[in-house]
Amino acid sequence: MDETDDTNREEGADDENEGWPTADDDAFDADEATPDPDAPETDTSDEPSGTVPDVESDLSGDADATGSVAGSDTVDTSVNLDTGGVDIDRMLEDDDDSQGLFDDLMAGEPIFRNKEVLRPSYTPHELPHRTDQINQMATILVSALRGDTPSNILIYGKTGTGKTASAKFVSQELESTSQKYDVPCEVEYINCEITDTQYRVLAQLANKFIEKNREIVAGRLEDLRDLRSEATEAGTATLADTEYDDVSAVDDRIADLETDREEMEEVPMTGWPTDRVYSKFFDAIDYHERVVVIMLDEIDKLVEKSGDDTLYNLSRMNSELENSRISIMGISNDLKFTDFLDPRVKSSLGEEEIVFPPYDANQLRDILQHRSDVAFKDDALTDDVIPLCAAFAAQEHGDARRALDLLRTAGELAERSQAETVEEQHVRQAQDKIELDRVVEVVRTLPTQSKIVLFATILLEKNGVHNINTGEVFNIYKRLCEEIDADVLTQRRVTDLISELDMLGIVNAVVVSKGRYGRTKEISLSVPIEETEHVLLSDSRLGDIENAQPFVQARFDN
Ligand code: ADP
Ligand code: MG
Repeated sequence: MDETDDTNREEGADDENEGWPTADDDAFDADEATPDPDAPETDTSDEPSGTVPDVESDLSGDADATGSVAGSDTVDTSVNLDTGGVDIDRMLEDDDDSQGLFDDLMAGEPIFRNKEVLRPSYTPHELPHRTDQINQMATILVSALRGDTPSNILIYGKTGTGKTASAKFVSQELESTSQKYDVPCEVEYINCEITDTQYRVLAQLANKFIEKNREIVAGRLEDLRDLRSEATEAGTATLADTEYDDVSAVDDRIADLETDREEMEEVPMTGWPTDRVYSKFFDAIDYHERVVVIMLDEIDKLVEKSGDDTLYNLSRMNSELENSRISIMGISNDLKFTDFLDPRVKSSLGEEEIVFPPYDANQLRDILQHRSDVAFKDDALTDDVIPLCAAFAAQEHGDARRALDLLRTAGELAERSQAETVEEQHVRQAQDKIELDRVVEVVRTLPTQSKIVLFATILLEKNGVHNINTGEVFNIYKRLCEEIDADVLTQRRVTDLISELDMLGIVNAVVVSKGRYGRTKEISLSVPIEETEHVLLSDSRLGDIENAQPFVQARFDN
């Protein structure tokens, strides 16, 4: 095993030495950074067992275990051959003894039992410390099971407070109970961060209901055709208990349903006028009696991007629907998003409000403990790992997502460094890595103008300027814009962009008084310089600046 240890350590070395991985390390994406234990490396130089001569013999069974290299033409002399040729069938049956290329790597994995459990995509079945909120939702939504329209609900809370997980849990329970009692109640979940325009929300909903309606129609048609053939064979007495007087009435109904089905065309994801999409959606939802709960997760993103038209239209629908009723459950990370809503929408949507407060460190510990029992092997975590993850995440506004990310990343880092257990140091490394990933993502997605401003700041710092003021940033910024043919904004605008960078935590800008010269901002970088520069230069527009650097520097030296 010693060979493997060394190789792997070297590979992981660059981001384990220091908190900040280098920018060209592919460790930029949390998921790509660390190798997945489910997919061990195929590089044969990492091959763990020094006694196995080559891959070929390895794949046909371990030479030591079987004493033979069946299936291989060339026999390596380092292999013990005293039992002679062994037939391959026997070897294949004898699974336990044969050690394949990956067996040692798999067996040597002491950390994770099931890493998926720590990923955001996993919906837990137990949500400690959310019983109150879940019960509140259930108390409101139970009307749907009685055939009444539940009040609309608005759920608020910062990211990682369990809103999505709780809402999904409740919707699963609601749907399964509705099936149990055979009441027509459906829940549709939409993530408005992805589906972020009125058109897309309506089209997505329309298509979901159209699909369901088609299934219903198909079922009804099948029943009617059976009924029809019975009636033609056994006579119209078969129809006595039905709403149909004769076979031709059945035929008419079949024809109607077929027409319905033809009209149920899917809405394309672009191209139609919005009214047409809306009316398709309306007809689809009203096709038969049911109560529909529409969950709009990240609803603030929808309003931010496309205004409140969607919510306005949805909240008025019940007065026009004939057969069905809808209830809206909006979920928002932004506590103030209703400030931007039309007052009518605001009062309709906020009939009931449920707040998800941040978790404290103790609650986060419980959450992590629950998950880690499934995610990690026994004794894989040292005692201080969970409390430390919980403490870090509690500082991060009680974000359970952050806590779980930390725990997973710490596990991955431990695994990568071939440690037997996850320790405190792995959590600290994970914290640094996640923080850097965040910075990289924020910088990468900045608008070009902000990137230029940030780059100007970096150039100044690299040239040893401290307490940088806005004027200095502006001067370099102007030069950079000229270099890449970008529009030059006013100093006033640049000052605003600096404030935005400050709010994002990328720079730190403090206002200092210069006595009778007025006040100015002193700007310093809050992020690691090399990595940030690398991200900026990977933008194709800014990439050209690299050549302008000596030029800028010369200007600056003057
Ligand atoms: P939000 O939607 O409020 O941003 P999520 O519901 O997505 O937060 O939760 C973030 C992560 O934390 C998810 O992986 C979720 O499963 C987990 N989580 C949140 N609250 C709990 C809880 N009470 N118990 C277990 N896991 C939780
Ligand atoms: Mg969410």
